[in-house]
Amino acid sequence: MIIRKITLMKMKAVIATDSISLLPLRGRHHPFTRPRAATLSVAITAYTFIFGVILRIVIIFSIFVKNTWFFMKVKENSIRITVGDITRLHVDAIVNAANNTLLGGGGVDGAIHRAAGPGLLEECRTLGGCPTGKSKMTSAYNLPCRKIIHTVGPVWHGGSHDEPELLASCYDTAMKIAEDNFLTSIAFPCISTGVYRYPKREAAVIALETIFKHLDSGAYNGEVIICCFTRQDAEIYEELLETT
Ligand code: ADP
Repeated sequence: MIIRKITLMKMKAVIATDSISLLPLRGRHHPFTRPRAATLSVAITAYTFIFGVILRIVIIFSIFVKNTWFFMKVKENSIRITVGDITRLHVDAIVNAANNTLLGGGGVDGAIHRAAGPGLLEECRTLGGCPTGKSKMTSAYNLPCRKIIHTVGPVWHGGSHDEPELLASCYDTAMKIAEDNFLTSIAFPCISTGVYRYPKREAAVIALETIFKHLDSGAYNGEVIICCFTRQDAEIYEELLETT
Protein backbone atom coordinates (compact mmCIF):
# COMPACT_ATOMS: atom_id res chain seq x y z
CA MET A 1 0.00 0.00 0.00
CA ILE A 2 2.77 2.38 0.97
CA ILE A 3 4.81 1.34 -2.05
CA ARG A 4 1.79 2.02 -4.38
CA LYS A 5 1.31 5.44 -2.82
CA ILE A 6 4.97 6.31 -3.31
CA THR A 7 4.85 5.15 -6.97
CA LEU A 8 1.71 7.26 -7.53
CA MET A 9 3.41 10.28 -6.02
CA LYS A 10 6.48 9.69 -8.22
CA MET A 11 4.28 9.56 -11.32
CA LYS A 12 2.52 12.79 -10.37
CA ALA A 13 5.89 14.38 -9.86
CA VAL A 14 7.07 13.28 -13.31
CA ILE A 15 3.89 14.64 -14.94
CA ALA A 16 4.25 17.86 -13.01
CA THR A 17 7.89 18.23 -14.04
CA ASP A 18 6.99 17.63 -17.71
CA SER A 19 4.18 20.17 -17.55
CA ILE A 20 6.49 22.74 -16.00
CA SER A 21 9.24 22.11 -18.53
CA LEU A 22 6.75 22.40 -21.46
CA LEU A 23 5.01 25.50 -20.21
CA PRO A 24 7.60 28.05 -21.23
CA LEU A 25 7.67 26.59 -24.79
CA ARG A 26 3.89 26.90 -25.11
CA GLY A 27 3.76 30.41 -23.77
CA ARG A 28 6.52 32.00 -25.89
CA HIS A 29 8.46 31.27 -29.12
CA HIS A 30 11.43 29.00 -29.01
CA PRO A 31 14.48 31.25 -29.17
CA PHE A 32 15.67 29.71 -32.48
CA THR A 33 12.91 27.92 -34.41
CA ARG A 34 9.82 30.10 -33.96
CA PRO A 35 11.03 33.51 -35.15
CA ARG A 36 12.77 31.91 -38.15
CA ALA A 37 9.65 29.98 -39.13
CA ALA A 38 7.55 33.11 -38.71
CA THR A 39 9.90 35.19 -40.87
CA LEU A 40 9.96 32.49 -43.55
CA SER A 41 6.19 32.20 -43.65
CA VAL A 42 5.77 35.99 -43.86
CA ALA A 43 8.33 36.10 -46.70
CA ILE A 44 6.62 33.27 -48.59
CA THR A 45 3.20 34.95 -48.20
CA ALA A 46 4.62 38.27 -49.39
CA TYR A 47 6.35 36.73 -52.42
CA THR A 48 3.24 34.73 -53.38
CA PHE A 49 1.12 37.87 -53.13
CA ILE A 50 3.51 40.01 -55.19
CA PHE A 51 3.95 37.27 -57.82
CA GLY A 52 0.15 36.84 -58.05
CA VAL A 53 -0.37 40.57 -58.56
CA ILE A 54 2.32 40.76 -61.28
CA LEU A 55 0.89 37.70 -63.06
CA ARG A 56 -2.61 39.20 -63.02
CA ILE A 57 -1.34 42.52 -64.44
CA VAL A 58 0.52 40.74 -67.27
CA ILE A 59 -2.52 38.59 -68.16
CA ILE A 60 -4.94 41.55 -68.13
CA PHE A 61 -2.46 43.64 -70.13
CA SER A 62 -1.97 40.99 -72.80
CA ILE A 63 -5.71 40.29 -73.11
CA PHE A 64 -6.89 43.89 -73.43
CA VAL A 65 -3.87 45.60 -74.99
CA LYS A 66 -2.85 43.18 -77.72
CA ASN A 67 -0.08 45.32 -79.19
CA THR A 68 2.04 45.34 -76.08
CA TRP A 69 5.72 44.48 -76.09
CA PHE A 70 4.90 41.26 -74.23
CA PHE A 71 2.35 40.19 -76.82
CA MET A 72 4.62 40.99 -79.78
CA LYS A 73 7.45 38.99 -78.21
CA VAL A 74 5.16 35.97 -77.92
CA LYS A 75 4.31 36.34 -81.60
CA GLU A 76 7.95 36.57 -82.65
CA ASN A 77 8.90 33.54 -80.61
CA SER A 78 6.11 31.38 -81.92
CA ILE A 79 6.80 31.63 -85.66
CA ARG A 80 10.21 30.89 -87.11
CA ILE A 81 11.20 31.21 -90.75
CA THR A 82 13.83 28.80 -92.03
CA VAL A 83 15.29 27.96 -95.43
CA GLY A 84 15.94 24.33 -96.29
CA ASP A 85 14.61 20.85 -96.84
CA ILE A 86 11.54 20.19 -94.68
CA THR A 87 12.26 16.43 -94.58
CA ARG A 88 15.29 17.06 -92.36
CA LEU A 89 13.48 18.88 -89.56
CA HIS A 90 13.32 17.34 -86.07
CA VAL A 91 9.85 18.57 -85.15
CA ASP A 92 6.64 16.98 -83.91
CA ALA A 93 5.05 17.25 -87.36
CA ILE A 94 5.86 18.44 -90.85
CA VAL A 95 3.09 19.41 -93.24
CA ASN A 96 3.01 17.89 -96.71
CA ALA A 97 1.62 19.84 -99.67
CA ALA A 98 -0.06 16.75 -101.12
CA ASN A 99 -2.59 16.13 -103.90
CA ASN A 100 -6.12 14.70 -103.56
CA THR A 101 -5.00 11.09 -103.89
CA LEU A 102 -2.45 11.35 -101.04
CA LEU A 103 -0.43 8.79 -102.96
CA GLY A 104 2.62 10.93 -103.61
CA GLY A 105 3.62 13.32 -106.37
CA GLY A 106 6.32 15.85 -107.25
CA GLY A 107 7.85 18.76 -105.31
CA VAL A 108 7.75 18.60 -101.52
CA ASP A 109 5.29 15.68 -101.66
CA GLY A 110 7.77 13.57 -103.62
CA ALA A 111 10.64 14.56 -101.31
CA ILE A 112 8.63 13.53 -98.24
CA HIS A 113 7.60 10.14 -99.70
CA ARG A 114 11.16 9.37 -100.81
CA ALA A 115 12.63 10.24 -97.42
CA ALA A 116 9.90 8.53 -95.38
CA GLY A 117 10.09 5.23 -97.30
CA PRO A 118 7.43 2.78 -98.58
CA GLY A 119 5.62 2.55 -95.20
CA LEU A 120 4.19 6.03 -95.78
CA LEU A 121 2.61 5.12 -99.12
CA GLU A 122 1.13 1.99 -97.54
CA GLU A 123 -0.54 4.02 -94.79
CA CYS A 124 -1.67 6.69 -97.27
CA ARG A 125 -3.48 4.03 -99.33
CA THR A 126 -5.74 3.38 -96.32
CA LEU A 127 -6.83 7.05 -96.04
CA GLY A 128 -9.05 7.22 -99.12
CA GLY A 129 -7.62 10.50 -100.40
CA CYS A 130 -8.32 13.98 -99.05
CA PRO A 131 -10.51 16.87 -100.28
CA THR A 132 -8.89 20.21 -101.18
CA GLY A 133 -8.47 22.42 -98.10
CA LYS A 134 -8.55 19.49 -95.66
CA SER A 135 -5.76 17.65 -93.79
CA LYS A 136 -5.00 14.12 -92.59
CA MET A 137 -2.20 12.84 -90.36
CA THR A 138 0.07 9.79 -90.70
CA SER A 139 3.19 8.43 -89.06
CA ALA A 140 6.55 9.73 -90.29
CA TYR A 141 8.39 6.40 -90.83
CA ASN A 142 12.05 7.11 -91.72
CA LEU A 143 11.79 10.87 -91.26
CA PRO A 144 13.27 12.53 -88.16
CA CYS A 145 9.90 14.15 -87.31
CA ARG A 146 7.15 12.22 -85.46
CA LYS A 147 4.14 12.83 -87.72
CA ILE A 148 3.22 14.05 -91.19
CA ILE A 149 0.12 16.17 -91.70
CA HIS A 150 -0.92 15.90 -95.34
CA THR A 151 -2.92 18.83 -96.66
CA VAL A 152 -4.23 19.50 -100.15
CA GLY A 153 -3.77 23.06 -101.36
CA PRO A 154 -5.83 24.64 -104.16
CA VAL A 155 -4.55 24.99 -107.71
CA TRP A 156 -4.40 28.70 -108.64
CA HIS A 157 -7.02 29.55 -111.28
CA GLY A 158 -6.89 33.33 -111.00
CA GLY A 159 -8.27 33.71 -107.47
CA SER A 160 -12.01 33.52 -108.14
CA HIS A 161 -12.39 29.79 -107.42
CA ASP A 162 -12.28 29.97 -103.62
CA GLU A 163 -8.50 29.69 -103.67
CA PRO A 164 -7.93 32.02 -100.64
CA GLU A 165 -10.52 30.20 -98.50
CA LEU A 166 -9.19 26.78 -99.49
CA LEU A 167 -5.58 27.75 -98.80
CA ALA A 168 -6.56 29.23 -95.41
CA SER A 169 -8.40 25.99 -94.68
CA CYS A 170 -5.19 23.99 -95.33
CA TYR A 171 -3.33 25.92 -92.60
CA ASP A 172 -6.39 25.93 -90.36
CA THR A 173 -7.07 22.18 -90.50
CA ALA A 174 -3.37 21.32 -90.12
CA MET A 175 -3.11 23.54 -87.02
CA LYS A 176 -6.30 21.99 -85.65
CA ILE A 177 -4.80 18.50 -85.99
CA ALA A 178 -1.65 19.71 -84.20
CA GLU A 179 -3.78 21.09 -81.35
CA ASP A 180 -5.95 17.99 -81.04
CA ASN A 181 -2.83 15.82 -80.81
CA PHE A 182 -0.97 18.14 -78.39
CA LEU A 183 1.89 18.68 -80.83
CA THR A 184 4.32 21.42 -79.80
CA SER A 185 6.20 22.04 -83.05
CA ILE A 186 4.90 22.02 -86.61
CA ALA A 187 6.68 22.93 -89.85
CA PHE A 188 4.88 24.13 -93.00
CA PRO A 189 6.19 24.35 -96.56
CA CYS A 190 4.83 27.16 -98.74
CA ILE A 191 1.66 25.26 -99.66
CA SER A 192 0.35 25.62 -103.26
CA THR A 193 3.14 27.99 -104.34
CA GLY A 194 5.01 25.43 -106.48
CA VAL A 195 3.34 23.40 -109.20
CA TYR A 196 -0.09 24.76 -108.08
CA ARG A 197 1.13 28.33 -108.93
CA TYR A 198 -0.48 30.27 -106.06
CA PRO A 199 1.12 33.78 -105.98
CA LYS A 200 3.76 33.63 -103.25
CA ARG A 201 3.08 36.88 -101.43
CA GLU A 202 -0.69 36.38 -101.30
CA ALA A 203 -0.15 32.82 -100.07
CA ALA A 204 2.24 34.02 -97.36
CA VAL A 205 -0.31 36.58 -96.11
CA ILE A 206 -2.95 33.86 -95.80
CA ALA A 207 -0.50 31.49 -94.11
CA LEU A 208 0.52 34.04 -91.45
CA GLU A 209 -3.03 35.28 -90.84
CA THR A 210 -4.33 31.76 -90.28
CA ILE A 211 -1.43 30.63 -88.10
CA PHE A 212 -1.65 33.76 -85.94
CA LYS A 213 -5.35 33.12 -85.38
CA HIS A 214 -4.40 29.85 -83.67
CA LEU A 215 -1.53 31.39 -81.71
CA ASP A 216 -3.46 34.50 -80.64
CA SER A 217 -6.44 32.51 -79.41
CA GLY A 218 -4.12 30.31 -77.36
CA ALA A 219 -5.53 27.21 -79.06
CA TYR A 220 -2.01 26.21 -80.15
CA ASN A 221 0.84 26.44 -77.69
CA GLY A 222 4.04 25.66 -79.47
CA GLU A 223 6.40 26.57 -82.22
CA VAL A 224 5.44 27.05 -85.86
CA ILE A 225 8.16 26.88 -88.49
CA ILE A 226 7.70 28.11 -92.04
CA CYS A 227 10.20 26.06 -93.98
CA CYS A 228 10.94 27.88 -97.24
CA PHE A 229 12.83 26.13 -100.00
CA THR A 230 14.45 29.31 -101.29
CA ARG A 231 15.90 32.45 -99.67
CA GLN A 232 13.51 34.60 -101.78
CA ASP A 233 10.47 32.82 -100.27
CA ALA A 234 11.83 33.41 -96.77
CA GLU A 235 12.33 37.12 -97.48
CA ILE A 236 8.63 37.49 -98.30
CA TYR A 237 7.72 36.10 -94.86
CA GLU A 238 10.37 38.12 -93.02
CA GLU A 239 9.15 41.30 -94.68
CA LEU A 240 5.53 40.53 -93.78
CA LEU A 241 6.43 39.75 -90.18
CA GLU A 242 8.35 43.02 -89.86
CA THR A 243 5.38 45.06 -91.07
CA THR A 244 2.70 43.41 -88.94
P1 ADP B 1 2.16 22.55 -104.54
O1 ADP B 1 1.70 21.52 -105.52
O2 ADP B 1 1.27 22.68 -103.34
O3 ADP B 1 2.44 23.85 -105.19
P2 ADP B 1 5.01 21.96 -104.46
O4 ADP B 1 5.68 20.82 -103.81
O5 ADP B 1 5.08 22.03 -105.93
O6 ADP B 1 3.51 21.94 -103.91
O7 ADP B 1 5.56 23.32 -103.85
C1 ADP B 1 5.20 23.81 -102.57
C2 ADP B 1 6.40 24.50 -101.98
O8 ADP B 1 7.29 23.54 -101.44
C3 ADP B 1 7.21 25.33 -102.97
O9 ADP B 1 7.50 26.58 -102.36
C4 ADP B 1 8.47 24.51 -103.16
O10 ADP B 1 9.58 25.35 -103.44
C5 ADP B 1 8.61 23.89 -101.80
N1 ADP B 1 9.45 22.68 -101.68
C6 ADP B 1 9.75 21.74 -102.59
N2 ADP B 1 10.52 20.78 -102.04
C7 ADP B 1 10.69 21.12 -100.75
C8 ADP B 1 11.40 20.55 -99.64
N3 ADP B 1 12.09 19.39 -99.76
N4 ADP B 1 11.37 21.20 -98.44
C9 ADP B 1 10.69 22.34 -98.31
N5 ADP B 1 10.00 22.92 -99.28
C10 ADP B 1 10.02 22.33 -100.52
